[in-house]
Amino acid sequence: MKTTPFWWEEAAPEHGERAFDQTRCDALIVGSGYAGINAAITMAEAGVKDIFVVDFQRIGEGASTRSGGQIGRNSPKFSLAEGTRRFGEKRAREIFEDYDRSLGFMLDRAKTLTDDFELNLSGGLIGAHSRKDYQNLAAAYDSMSPERKAKNQMIPEDQVHRYLKTDIYRGLMLRHEGGSVHPAKYFRALLNRARALGVRTFSGFRYTGVTDKAGKKLATLQDVTSGKTVTITADKVLVAANGYVTKDVPWLRKRTIPVQSYMIATEQLPQEQLEELIPHKRTVGDTKHVLYYFRRSPDGSRILFGGRARFRTSTAEQGAVGLRQFLLHTFPSLDKVKLTHAWLGNVCFAYDFCSHVGQMPDGTYYISCCNGGGVSMMTYLGHRCAEMMMGTPGHDRGIVNSNFPRLYFYDGNPWFLPAVGTYYRFLDKAARWRE
Ligand SMILES: Cc1cc2nc3c(=O)[nH]c(=O)nc-3n(C[C@H](O)[C@H](O)[C@H](O)COP(=O)(O)OP(=O)(O)OC[C@H]3O[C@@H](n4cnc5c(N)ncnc54)[C@H](O)[C@@H]3O)c2cc1C
Repeated sequence: MKTTPFWWEEAAPEHGERAFDQTRCDALIVGSGYAGINAAITMAEAGVKDIFVVDFQRIGEGASTRSGGQIGRNSPKFSLAEGTRRFGEKRAREIFEDYDRSLGFMLDRAKTLTDDFELNLSGGLIGAHSRKDYQNLAAAYDSMSPERKAKNQMIPEDQVHRYLKTDIYRGLMLRHEGGSVHPAKYFRALLNRARALGVRTFSGFRYTGVTDKAGKKLATLQDVTSGKTVTITADKVLVAANGYVTKDVPWLRKRTIPVQSYMIATEQLPQEQLEELIPHKRTVGDTKHVLYYFRRSPDGSRILFGGRARFRTSTAEQGAVGLRQFLLHTFPSLDKVKLTHAWLGNVCFAYDFCSHVGQMPDGTYYISCCNGGGVSMMTYLGHRCAEMMMGTPGHDRGIVNSNFPRLYFYDGNPWFLPAVGTYYRFLDKAARWRE
């Protein structure tokens, strides 16, 4: 079993430039994932000239080439009433709009990309973990507008097998919008688009901080191989580090909780068997607090299964043990299946479970907190942040400039995660015991 992402077999991250031939640029973007690259594309399309994207890893080596590649209509992990309490009614409604627009924005941007990335819009299923969860999904469905209802469908428990060959769910919601991509090929397509627009990418450089001089930002980058530093003068600096944010950016560290997320890939299985287990290559997620999600590989021949298998810092192999158990719980007929890949990556949560875009007190910009899912959301927020950096009229709404809370006495080390994970697992178990 390999401990690198399955996706890298066909689209592994590559190095960018390893030296600077000029030390000034218009925009310096720290973090080369979907958020950073999409911010770069929007700025380059608008005519911003010298755009540098830097990363301490290879280009795209963070979460963006490791994900499950599931895409769907996004919505916040809180109700409109809760959002109104936190942000005020107008801002809360705009935040909901931002989430709602993200998938459409990604599909529009996809039309500008020339490389194929195995976009599959066959929809997705949400498995209700308990009967109460099914009732909650049904209540959400009932409150939808007629237009939205037409894009969703409730599947009661006695019909689940027509859509998914498992006994673990108490019913399903079928969402006709969304589906999946090959996440590393999607990233490569974006990168090629950015490069075609003149964006330059540099790998192996760690951003360590910024100072101001004559209205410009002097950003310090450290070469991770030689330890030498280089100072880049930029008009604007954006930090798009999500779950990989380093101690160099304490303002963000105090507001964000990085969490490891794990995935496994099975060996190739007979197509008929997979078509019976997961028909139509639909994606699957569930309603649990500690959620699991799975899909078939783009060629349909494997199952890719993911989730928060562990809440302590662990290896890909350790994560694979828990994921395999849950895979077998979901599909007992796979008891002999072998795994070919197991890997992990970091996602990032905010205390308010909202994504955030804005400006730090030192004048640098940020995009942060995918809260577990960000293929389309971080694509869209890259664009929204670029609008903010360019001063596009109307940019100050919704997620852009929303209040970004911090926890006092927290410095970026999530020591409490194992306890939180145990508590959430208990809630998931209790939901079934109650039945
Ligand atoms: C295993 C897994 C499965 C997932 N599955 C899904 C899914 O199915 N659907 C979905 O929508 N989302 C999924 N996600 C989430 C999704 O992948 C992320 O939300 C998204 O990729 C985040 O993009 P990003 O650009 O914000 O961050 P990243 O892609 O993580 O990029 C951040 C980059 O910043 C760099 N960086 C950080 N600090 C510095 C510094 N000081 N100097 C230089 N560089 C720095 C890092 O090296 C990193 O490359 C998954 C994530 C994981 C890990």
